[in-house]
Amino acid sequence: MSSNTRVSKADYYEVLGVSRGADEQELKSAYRKQALKYHPDRNPGDHAAEEKFKTASEAYQVLSDPDKRAAYDRYGHAGLSGQGGFGGSPFAGGVDIGDIFGDLFGEMFNVGGSSQRGNRQQRGDDLRFDLAIDFEDAFFGTETEVKIRRLETCGACHGRGTSTGRGPTTCGQCQGRGQIRYQQGFFSVARTCGACGGTGQVIGDPCQTCRGQTRVSSELKLNVKVPPGVEEGTRIRYAGEGDSGRAGGPRGDLYVVLSVRPHDFFERKGHDLHCVIPISFPQAALGAEFEIPGVDGPVNLKIPEGTQSGRELRIRGRGIPYLSDKGHGDLIVKVLVQIPRKLSRSQRELVNKLAESLTVENKPTSPSLLEKMKDLFN
Ligand SMILES: [Zn+2]
Ligand SMILES: [Zn+2]
Repeated sequence: MSSNTRVSKADYYEVLGVSRGADEQELKSAYRKQALKYHPDRNPGDHAAEEKFKTASEAYQVLSDPDKRAAYDRYGHAGLSGQGGFGGSPFAGGVDIGDIFGDLFGEMFNVGGSSQRGNRQQRGDDLRFDLAIDFEDAFFGTETEVKIRRLETCGACHGRGTSTGRGPTTCGQCQGRGQIRYQQGFFSVARTCGACGGTGQVIGDPCQTCRGQTRVSSELKLNVKVPPGVEEGTRIRYAGEGDSGRAGGPRGDLYVVLSVRPHDFFERKGHDLHCVIPISFPQAALGAEFEIPGVDGPVNLKIPEGTQSGRELRIRGRGIPYLSDKGHGDLIVKVLVQIPRKLSRSQRELVNKLAESLTVENKPTSPSLLEKMKDLFN
């Protein structure tokens, strides 16, 4: 455990890159910068980095202690020998690495994570259940029963985790802290205690049913009500239906996340439904009226006389229902005029006849002007 023989001869101010007049805040931020860069967790197996980390820790420990700093300023390294500051933990002088890095290292190095200490009961996890529904179900809404595996508080031990009813006892490995602080050369690192998983408590005579885990896996049958108008990714929250917490802690939430299977020909954009429909040249020229299938029943489609290919016809109120409001979006049908690829002899004669009287001025137009004209038509 002892590393008191390893005393660097480098100048401590130079090590941290601060002036001799640096105040506590400057020292702290300089050390933080170095430690983040050279921390062994970030540089596994890199001995040069490890040395730099140790030296920086040493420098900070001395310079952040007014007595040691004064001795160092006056006598250099010689002024520090015999002070006893380097016996055992380099932070024996009251400087705890967790205090400096708690905010910064937090999850990164699992240092100073005090949240787990003695916190036996925990809230259960939130659960996510993915539910695929048909396009029509998203339109009309549906109700379906799903089976979800989740953790329940063990009924045999009522979440105590022990068979005798004797409650859990303080973990001997970490003395209930949930963390093991250990020495690596000149620095101290905290790790989640493996014996108790960071809870600080262990169970001597584990419950046979849950093997001391306080929870068992079980199946929940849930009736999911899908309202009309849901879309891909809609989340339905069931508060308090997630996993039970450890040791009888409260349940997390359950989220049912919907995915909607695609329709054969309708596509959804916002609350509008889109589809494409082919029409013949005569239908486009003369106009036409016919039925097409909608999601909620047949739709009467009127093609006005002189309809251009690519025109979008809007049928109000036949789109997707609004989830949180009354009413529906629109149905938008794009018509594409089909030009026959092959003509019979008699058709050819008819088209020839038509061509005699029906002419188009083959004059170039700019594409953007054409786009504007399209908008006018729609
Ligand atoms: Zn422990
Ligand atoms: Zn149990």
